[in-house]
Amino acid sequence: MRKLLLIVTALVLLLTSCAADKQSVSTEAMDTFMKFEYYGDEKAGDELADMVKSLDKALSVTDKNSEIFRLNSDGSTPLSKDSLRLIKRSLELCEKLGGTLDITILPVVEKWGFINQNYRVPPKSEIDEALKKVNYNNVSVYNSSVTLKNGAKIDLGAVAKGYAADKSKQILREHRVSSAILNFGGTIAAVGSKPDNSPWRVGIADPENPSGYLGFISCRDKIIATSGGYERYFDNNGRRFIHIIDPKSGYPVDNDIASVSVISGDGVLCDALSTALFVKGLSGALRYCRDNEDFDCVIVTKDKKIYISDSLADSFTLSDDSYKIIKE
Ligand code: AMP
Ligand code: MG
Repeated sequence: MRKLLLIVTALVLLLTSCAADKQSVSTEAMDTFMKFEYYGDEKAGDELADMVKSLDKALSVTDKNSEIFRLNSDGSTPLSKDSLRLIKRSLELCEKLGGTLDITILPVVEKWGFINQNYRVPPKSEIDEALKKVNYNNVSVYNSSVTLKNGAKIDLGAVAKGYAADKSKQILREHRVSSAILNFGGTIAAVGSKPDNSPWRVGIADPENPSGYLGFISCRDKIIATSGGYERYFDNNGRRFIHIIDPKSGYPVDNDIASVSVISGDGVLCDALSTALFVKGLSGALRYCRDNEDFDCVIVTKDKKIYISDSLADSFTLSDDSYKIIKE
């Protein structure tokens, strides 16, 4: 009897110590709100917050002291390991995605006012002028320096949160955290499983009411990046202009897609693809998904259809039946 009592006491102590281990850290970086929830060492959350802040400091296009700001104004500069690694990987993805992702889009993004929030519809002549500077082939990397040609300027906004999600895995490993749900402003890292070993449930925002969810994905050890027209936009004369730009035309994308979520173990890939598949439009995006199997996706169209990868069929749950699931 005494032995049983001791075992029960030990179990209660163990369970209460696990419950006390839940941590939650919030911060603002990369122009968005981030929240990290996990089970384990308190210091891990502070390190995650430091990591996103220092990435933001390096990659910001507006902070005059950032590495990318210096690169964009000087045209050539040595860069830190993180900036260099992200630029190299992004350039490969720009090529693979046929230029629908282009990290030299900044001159056009600036024209539409998305950088200083002075939103405007620029005359076509201004867009065409800015477009001349947009081409990822104008970026060259030599040793640890990057050089820009023909007035190119870099904007890593389409991939930075995915890179932060990738970097978070190492920090959590170092602190032996095996259960975490990290929200990098819409890019989610679901690390391990919930403490009870069930999968994490990640909500997919309803583009028509982005504070609510249209469905959930159950997953373990995945990153989920979403690009949505609802994230940043302005309206002018009854038309909506979103922050995702088609690098061919220089105009904000206005096609059949409302949002794209990409799921894989690779954050930069997810983030790059969510932006690029949005640019490709529904038929181009579905074709790309069929031809490439290293990720899953959920594409939501403006006419309330949801296209999901076959392999997600069992892990996606619809919670808003005004949407209709189309299985490819
Ligand atoms: P995301 O929210 O990941 O889709 O990234 C959108 C951000 O990336 C925008 O706010 C721009 O700064 C930048 N961007 C917009 N269009 C593109 C594009 N076609 N390729 C690369 N970056 C882009
Ligand atoms: Mg992206």
